[in-house]
Amino acid sequence: MKILIVEDEAISRIVLARTLQKHKYEVLRATDGQKGWEIFKKEKDDIYIVILDWIMPKINGLQLCRMIKNETLSHYVYIIFLTSKRDIKDIVKGLEAGADDYLTKPFDRKELLARVNVGLRIIKLEGALKEANEKLHILAITDSLTEILNRRAVIDSLIKEISRSGRERKPLCIVMLDIDHFKAINDTYGHVAGDKVLKEVVSRAKTCLRPYDIIGRFGGEEFVLGIVNTDQEKSIEITERIRKNICEKPFKVEKKELRVSVSIGLTNITPPEIIDPNSVLDEMIKIADNALYEAKETGRNKVVYKELLI
Ligand code: GH3
Ligand code: MG
Ligand code: MG
Ligand code: MG
Repeated sequence: MKILIVEDEAISRIVLARTLQKHKYEVLRATDGQKGWEIFKKEKDDIYIVILDWIMPKINGLQLCRMIKNETLSHYVYIIFLTSKRDIKDIVKGLEAGADDYLTKPFDRKELLARVNVGLRIIKLEGALKEANEKLHILAITDSLTEILNRRAVIDSLIKEISRSGRERKPLCIVMLDIDHFKAINDTYGHVAGDKVLKEVVSRAKTCLRPYDIIGRFGGEEFVLGIVNTDQEKSIEITERIRKNICEKPFKVEKKELRVSVSIGLTNITPPEIIDPNSVLDEMIKIADNALYEAKETGRNKVVYKELLI
């Protein structure tokens, strides 16, 4: 965490820097607004607090404050004005430009340090809030058992992919995958074993996909996949590989070896450029679901492809 001091007056700058360095803060110094901006752009990932003079040549403190606040940053930057402008109107103007605090010269060292500490407190709070939000976001989009996307998130992700495929005129494959006789696995080996089978199916399916392909849990023992930028022939090949990868080697669950198979239905289109991705996805899922139904009806443990005409 670095503190950037932007101050054109040498004595003020030195006193300020020494005060902060004495308290173990790492300090960067700029002799005017222009230099302050250059240093900020270069070191913005490490700068958390900026102490700003107002009256400076080239770029003044007020302008620099606005420029910093307009930047897209990975963390909160706390700005403290330290200026001889003590008029209430100026204080209001400074705070309205985005500054977090306002101090007037000559400053009291203890007060300055206390205010820097307030800034650090806010920055830590903001960091913790951001972290908590990221965790919540991951929880909101993840299926807790299989740790892949949940139904809502996988739909969102597929909709985005349909838009992209439409723009880039690239083929996209939608796959519905359902475990065969899963109820019997639960009934015979118990629910815990059933859960392990679900996880293992996901893990075996994933090894046949590329990192940018999409996989999500659609419900119970049913999964939906988006195989990106892949034509019909190739997508059938990939789903066949998934099917074989699941049925050919027994699952080791609770010291038992069990045979698991899946039925797969899929469809593939290159979406038109001007499309409503929601309705295209609805159609694709419907067709893939019909294909899955056919796979179930005609013996299970198989892949069925169906064409979508739009
Ligand atoms: P089919 O081959 O026709 O797909 O038959 P099936 O038995 O796989 O399908 P069915 O829909 O009859 O049964 C699905 C079962 O999946 C019923 C339900 O209790 C079970 N199930 C759903 N979610 C979970 C889960 O999270 N864990 C476990 N262990 N079982 C689940
Ligand atoms: Mg000045
Ligand atoms: Mg099933
Ligand atoms: Mg099912």
